Amino acid sequence: MTEAKNNSVLIVDDEKSNIMALTHILSSEYTIYFAKNGTDAIELAEKFLPDVILLDILMPGMDGYDVISQLKKGAKTDEIPVIFITGLTGVEEEEKGLSLGAVDYISKPFSPAIVKLRVRSQMQMLNQIRLIKYLSMMDQLTDLPNRRNFDNRLRIEWEHAIRNRAFISLLMIDIDFFKNYNDKYGHQEGDIALKAMANIFKHTLKRSVDFVARWGGEEFVILLPNTHLSGALGVAEIIRAKAVDTEIICTGSSAARLTLSIGVNTIKPKLGSSLDGFISGADKALYIAKENGRNQVCSWDRD
Ligand code: GH3
Ligand code: MG
Ligand code: MG
Repeated sequence: MTEAKNNSVLIVDDEKSNIMALTHILSSEYTIYFAKNGTDAIELAEKFLPDVILLDILMPGMDGYDVISQLKKGAKTDEIPVIFITGLTGVEEEEKGLSLGAVDYISKPFSPAIVKLRVRSQMQMLNQIRLIKYLSMMDQLTDLPNRRNFDNRLRIEWEHAIRNRAFISLLMIDIDFFKNYNDKYGHQEGDIALKAMANIFKHTLKRSVDFVARWGGEEFVILLPNTHLSGALGVAEIIRAKAVDTEIICTGSSAARLTLSIGVNTIKPKLGSSLDGFISGADKALYIAKENGRNQVCSWDRD
């Protein structure tokens, strides 16, 4: 099978024959990692972040209960679903395994078909949860982070800036006369234009900490951590100029163009500084850009 394997399984068992049997059952569907003791299992789990862990209980050194307890304490590994697969078939052992946070419990000797199906059902659940998380944090039209996602990131970067006594800048961007654009070309063409603007933002931001999101409607926000005012004005100006230069291909008519108004606010926040004030500063600067004739960048001078 040449199909890409999107999900992975870590098999933990001190017996080589069990590892081989489980690999044989699962390797056509998943990428397989394996460990023969608890210490290696934790190291591999942290390194590869497998989607599911199949964990034996009786092993020399750390047993499976110790391993799951360690995994649940790890910030990176605490959410990885663990399925116990064990020769311990008593109700008490199963109860203990599940109470430590395992999602399932399979007894040895195992049926290959049941292992396959139980792992598959975990993977399906996992992939559904990931999809829901993705949909709740991303704007589907532009494939940019949505406002909720932005609010989370803003709070993190704000705290970070306070701790590091660093500048943080915010760009509030609004498309000029976008209602006219929709009226002239139609809503679908408007959607295409929104995607074109989103692509400009994505391609302009170079640093991994820079963060662009769709704020709502035809408004976007860009967060630039560790960036002083002149740097932020520079980024805003590049974006404004790129928008003017971008020909948006409209079906059934010649290429159209849009302009942007951008409000910029920069602050070196202290403990107690107002985050809402930071946002509304950028919003006020945007308002000034609109008032002054649009297609321009303005900054907020708080004095
Ligand atoms: P201004 O220069 O003052 O910003 O004028 P404007 O027309 O851009 O502002 P206004 O707030 O009056 O209109 C915003 C328009 O954006 C109206 C709305 O239909 C459109 N819009 C908002 N979200 C979407 C969307 O997802 N798709 C499309 N096609 N249009 C949208
Ligand atoms: Mg608007
Ligand atoms: Mg607008």
